This record gives sequence, structure tokens and C-alpha cells, in this order.
Amino acid sequence: VLEARGLELSFGQTPALRGADLTVMTGEILAIMGPSGSGKSTLLHCLAGILTPGAGEIHFAGRRLDTMREAERSELRRDRFGFVFQFGQLVPELTAEENVALPLLLGGRKRAAALAEARSWFGRLGLDGLEARRSGELSGGQAQRVALARAMVTRPDVIFADEPTGALDSLTGEQVMDLLVTTAREHGTTVVVVTHEARVAACADREVIVRDGKVTGLAAERMAS
Ligand code: ATP
Ligand code: MG
Repeated sequence: VLEARGLELSFGQTPALRGADLTVMTGEILAIMGPSGSGKSTLLHCLAGILTPGAGEIHFAGRRLDTMREAERSELRRDRFGFVFQFGQLVPELTAEENVALPLLLGGRKRAAALAEARSWFGRLGLDGLEARRSGELSGGQAQRVALARAMVTRPDVIFADEPTGALDSLTGEQVMDLLVTTAREHGTTVVVVTHEARVAACADREVIVRDGKVTGLAAERMAS
């Protein structure tokens, strides 16, 4: 369970978040939608402990995330969170399996064990035979599935995804989203996904809208319009 209250954050003079509140339940798949520039990525980065808000509080599993010491916070991020970003997230010189193994290696796992664990994800995600391919030589959809495997290989409690299907054609995007949802449900993983696509949001348990740096529910949004 992840809870944010009254988040405010400005980049210089530009306010990105202006009192955003959000509660994410354990095991829930939550879609965050909203116009470009409304603060979705900023909110996601705050929730994931990548950015520190200027005001407000973030609680995760009974701990205060926003005031935590940086060392403790990065450890928590590494052990309990996974990330899927839009693009440019794989290390192109490394093979697909090395990319997936990376979070395990950073967590101190031995190379052979990390690679074995990494490989076990390839079949599940329809990536058989691509283990040793350099990730710079994968198609967009393949790269995105490798990124998904990398976010899941540590069995995180929460996966954060910022437009994970944004760079893909709609069929591939749907497949990637399907995999994310199916695997998350299998493992009871909580998912927070930012998306522009209603089709993607439809796979989620719940949708919220970010508008002008605040979070509103879908129902409130429909009433206002
Ligand atoms: P998009 O749908 O286009 O990805 P978004 O909802 O994710 O948009 P954010 O990236 O959170 O929007 O940006 C919110 C506001 O903060 C915007 O006005 C943006 O210009 C500004 N902003 C975001 N990141 C930075 C940054 N690193 N430096 C300065 N301003 C930023
Ligand atoms: Mg964004």
C-alpha cells in the first residue's frame, strides 16, 4: 500500500504537482491518465522515490518514503520496486539476458545465478532465443518485453511504468500491456502505470486523472465535464 498526500513539486518557477493525493492498494493495477504536462511522470517519480517532493508526504508499507535517507531509499527501491520506462532504458551493449540480470547483480547476486534467473523469464514473455542478443539489436516490442522482465526479475512489490507502450504500435503495445497485467496478477504485484491510451487503462482495476498537478477520480472528472 502506497499513499501520497498533498504532494507539491516545482521545477524552478513551473509547478508540476500542486497538492496531489493518491492511495494505491496492494495488488491493485492503477492507471494514471491526463493531458500532456499535467504532472503524471512527476507524480510517478515521486511515488517511486526517484524525485523528492517539495511538500507533502509519501508512505510505503508503513514507512515514510520522502524523508528517508538516500541510501535507505535506494535500497528500498532496488529491493521492492521495479520500473518500466518509455524507451532508452536498456543498456544496448549488454545482451538481453545481461540487461534482465542487472538488478540482481546490483543486489549482490552471483553472476551465474543472476543470469539463470534472468533466463527463466524469457520463455514466459515470448522472448525465447533472444537471451544472447545485444539489446541494441532488438525490435521495439522485444526491447519493451525485456524491460518488463528486468522490472519483474527481482519480484518487486510495486511496478511503476511510465507510458510502457508509448513507443509501440498498437498491437505490440497491447501484448506488452497484457503481459504486464497477467504477470502482475500472477505474482500479486501492485502496478502503477501512466498511459495516454484508454485501451491500456481499460486493463487496469482503477483509473485516475492528473490535471494541473492534482489527482482526480474518473467519476469526479465526468461530473465536471
Ligand atoms: P506527458 O504526458 O507529456 O509525459 P506529464 O503529465 O508526464 O506529461 P510531467 O513530465 O510530470 O508531465 O511535467 C509536469 C510539468 O513539469 C510540465 O509543465 C513540465 O514542463 C514540467 N517539467 C517536468 N520535468 C521537468 C524538468 N526536469 N525540468 C523543468 N520542468 C519540468
Ligand atoms: Mg510524462
